Amino acid sequence: MTVEYLKKADLTSKTDASETTKIVQEILDAIEAGGDAAAMEYAARFDKYDGTIILTDADIEAASAKVPEKLKRDIEFAHANVKRFAEAQKATCQNIEVEVVPGLIAGQKSIPVNTAGCYIPGGRYSHIASAIMTVTTAKVAGCENIVACSPPRPGIGINPAIIYAAHVCGADKIVAMGGVQGVAAMTFGLFGLPKANILVGPGNQFVAEAKRILFGRVGIDMFAGPTDSLILADKTADPEVVAADLVGQAEHGYNSPVWLVTNTRSLAEEVMALVPKLIDDLPEVNSQNAAAAWRDYAEVILCGTREEMAATSDSYAPEHLTVQAEDLDWWLDRLACYGSLFLGEETTVAFGDKASGTNHVLPTSGAASYTGGLSVHKFMKIVTWQRATREGAKPVAEATARISRLEGMEGHARTADIRLRKYFPGENFD
Ligand code: NAD
Repeated sequence: MTVEYLKKADLTSKTDASETTKIVQEILDAIEAGGDAAAMEYAARFDKYDGTIILTDADIEAASAKVPEKLKRDIEFAHANVKRFAEAQKATCQNIEVEVVPGLIAGQKSIPVNTAGCYIPGGRYSHIASAIMTVTTAKVAGCENIVACSPPRPGIGINPAIIYAAHVCGADKIVAMGGVQGVAAMTFGLFGLPKANILVGPGNQFVAEAKRILFGRVGIDMFAGPTDSLILADKTADPEVVAADLVGQAEHGYNSPVWLVTNTRSLAEEVMALVPKLIDDLPEVNSQNAAAAWRDYAEVILCGTREEMAATSDSYAPEHLTVQAEDLDWWLDRLACYGSLFLGEETTVAFGDKASGTNHVLPTSGAASYTGGLSVHKFMKIVTWQRATREGAKPVAEATARISRLEGMEGHARTADIRLRKYFPGENFD
């Protein structure tokens, strides 16, 4: 494969993951031992907040009154789109029933988990869309209790638009607590909350590590790192649009990789010249994030053919994948590893991030090689059942007894024997 790096990531300043693990484990231990009071201490320390933790109806009403009407309509539009897509997913969760051998029927059911804990990040930006993505999907799945948890802003609580979004989308409880303490509150059932069966939603390294450590005691949607994006572009792509899309995703954070993979050197060079200008033009904090991400994590990769571009993209397994190239059907058919795919210039990652209906909670750091993003299916348990007539049980019992004995599991074998003797007295099953 002829692949040339016109720009390569410099990961020498990568943070030490073991340090994060240590910090998060300490906080979790302290909260498990100290309960509500310990969680509130961390809220005061990290978020400078000592106000209401579980929002009342009056709090929700007061917050809603502060949200501009136009923004409310936008939130409702995004909610309707995400709901519509999730409902189509729910329709694929069909129960099945099959007669495996005559007289023995086995089935499969999809059952929603009882309590979903939705983490809605709120440190750097106010992720209104994460409320829509997580809560709506849990609601459509049919979860009995939906807890939405988001960091309070110092002294004043959760952003009102996040509260409005979580409420409109169907949250039963809205909790003003962020980071590890928020994850702990949902998992341990602090402040009278029902204990979560699954934790979903994006978050920074502390949130992601808390979910990773707690996995097993509670289900999680996926292991998540910083958001990442890859653009596949050929000679037909518009360099200004490609550059804007790269910058749009780099603003997520200093460690959010963006990658451009192309077979057209002139396009790559134009984009590389444009990106720093677009970054400079952003508001200050966004510009700092994007500049650091572009400097340390971005890559521009020149390939010989579109097949090499596709293979390179699959090896990165990006969270967000955009194609701005000819023959979109070929790319849709060929590409295999991505969290969400955006085909053609007329759509873009930000559409999916905010309002187009597909979920924005997606696998990062290469996890798209083994999983997709948040969907109704993540909230469902696929369980199985069986029942049999006595005739249906007969061949299965005979095979079970023989297999069990060969394995040395005499107790198992006897559960088959007792049935054979009871249902078919006088027959010899040696
Ligand atoms: P956040 O809500 O994840 O984290 C804020 C919390 O971090 C605070 O409440 C605080 O308790 C905790 N914290 C801060 N510093 C700490 C420290 N030193 N020790 C322990 N805890 C500490 O918000 P954020 O920081 O803005 O991160 C949001 C993340 O979510 C970003 O990485 C963003 O890229 C990601 N994101 C991803 C998607 C996606 O779909 N993949 C969507 C939206 C956001």
